Amino acid sequence: MNLLKSMQLKLIFIIIICLFVPSQLVSQDSEVDSLVAGMLKQTPLKEDLRQLCDEIGGRPTGSKANLEAVEWALKKFKQAEVNAKKEKFIMPKFWLERSAEAFISGDVSFSVDAASMPFSTSTPKTGLKAPLIDLGRGTEEDFTSAGDKAKDAFVFIETGELLDVEGLFREYEEAGKIEKRAFAAGAAGVVYMSSRPKGILYRHNASLGPDNKHPMLVIERGQAQRIHRLLKAGKKLFLTAKIDIQSGEEYESFNVIGEIPGTEKPDEFVVIGAHLDSWELGTGAIDNGCNVVMMIDIARQMKRLNIKPKRTIRFILWNGEEQGMMGSWQYTRTHAHELDRHIMACSIDIGCGRILGFFTNGREELLEPVNRALKPVQGLGPFQQLNVPIVGTDNYDFIMNGIGNLVANQAPVDYGPNYHAESDNFDKIDFNRLKLNSAITAALTYAFANMEVTWKRQTRAETQNLIDSTDLKRQMEMFGLYESWLDGTRGRIK
Ligand SMILES: [Zn+2]
Repeated sequence: MNLLKSMQLKLIFIIIICLFVPSQLVSQDSEVDSLVAGMLKQTPLKEDLRQLCDEIGGRPTGSKANLEAVEWALKKFKQAEVNAKKEKFIMPKFWLERSAEAFISGDVSFSVDAASMPFSTSTPKTGLKAPLIDLGRGTEEDFTSAGDKAKDAFVFIETGELLDVEGLFREYEEAGKIEKRAFAAGAAGVVYMSSRPKGILYRHNASLGPDNKHPMLVIERGQAQRIHRLLKAGKKLFLTAKIDIQSGEEYESFNVIGEIPGTEKPDEFVVIGAHLDSWELGTGAIDNGCNVVMMIDIARQMKRLNIKPKRTIRFILWNGEEQGMMGSWQYTRTHAHELDRHIMACSIDIGCGRILGFFTNGREELLEPVNRALKPVQGLGPFQQLNVPIVGTDNYDFIMNGIGNLVANQAPVDYGPNYHAESDNFDKIDFNRLKLNSAITAALTYAFANMEVTWKRQTRAETQNLIDSTDLKRQMEMFGLYESWLDGTRGRIK
């Protein structure tokens, strides 16, 4: 709150000073300052998030709530008099959980709270019963020592408590390997101990995504620890899983695109985006409702202040992000003819912790422009840019298409423990922080829409070089994306 106040005062001071300087000398500076001040003022940001999370709720792609969210976002842009449209794309596979139940029987019987992993298969209506086998942490050695016991069994995987974003990445990376081993060993399904405390359940994508062919569950941590102790004590247990999934083939979804046209270079584009879809155990406030309403708020303030960027700014609310970054991928295909004129694409998707700087994703030539772009908001820093590639959100297909791209690097407060969880709700959002982040993001977007461009779109060979010279390949494999780059399904072909 104090930070917000002092920033407002400083900006008022700047604006007052600017009034005494000939306007042609300061037009750009005063424009960005008034934008930043506009972002820090009272805006409908908080009310917008309340509506999105509490009234529409969790909104997985394919759900009725997701379609409602699309119409809601369109309405919000239009109310702000920002040109907006919904742009259709095809989702390859339909997946929604109707219900998931699990029961333990054998030497000890009790029921447990469980959630299915996205792209888990259904079980028969009466349930699938199989022995529950302790597979430790699911390492190579664990599977070797289990021998053929994993065959036709539910393999139970112990997890450590998730504390931070690094832990989250580790979970993703390990899950990919564990699932490979489990299905090579002929397991009936995979059962994870919830890595979150306090009874919290969540959804992690099955590592094979829509190609997964097995039931996969997460069991509440306290109950899972009980199971683990029983198995360790040599008790014989069975798990009956009853998973009811509504699944289907391809269907239509929509990105929502708000646009402020450029005055000098209307056919050059700066993309700033956050994803509209979420999982539905919670209501998707941290991931990623808070940044969706931020996008709407920046567009709203730009319009209200009559800000005229030189390039066209596209505020894009992506869909299908949680199911493989589908909306942003399809955008790069639909807009293939315009990609040479995409100057920069930025994703905000690490919750509402303080923006510490931006990932420049292996594009060293972006470091200086980002530093420059953040000058007007340096009082909200310090900022430090990290020139490492980040995979896992909607910048991905922009990396693969050679387009300059950024991801906000944010303090991980609350992000990891609430990730995709039933605890991801409105009450987790620090609105003072979100306001400051919106000012930072607005300044960055404005700067990129106006600055001289000193970098170029990369060729496929240059992107390959980026893959070879960083740990991009490891991350692509972790998300099951490397094949689609190799076979030219995703990314630039030449
Ligand atoms: Zn997200």
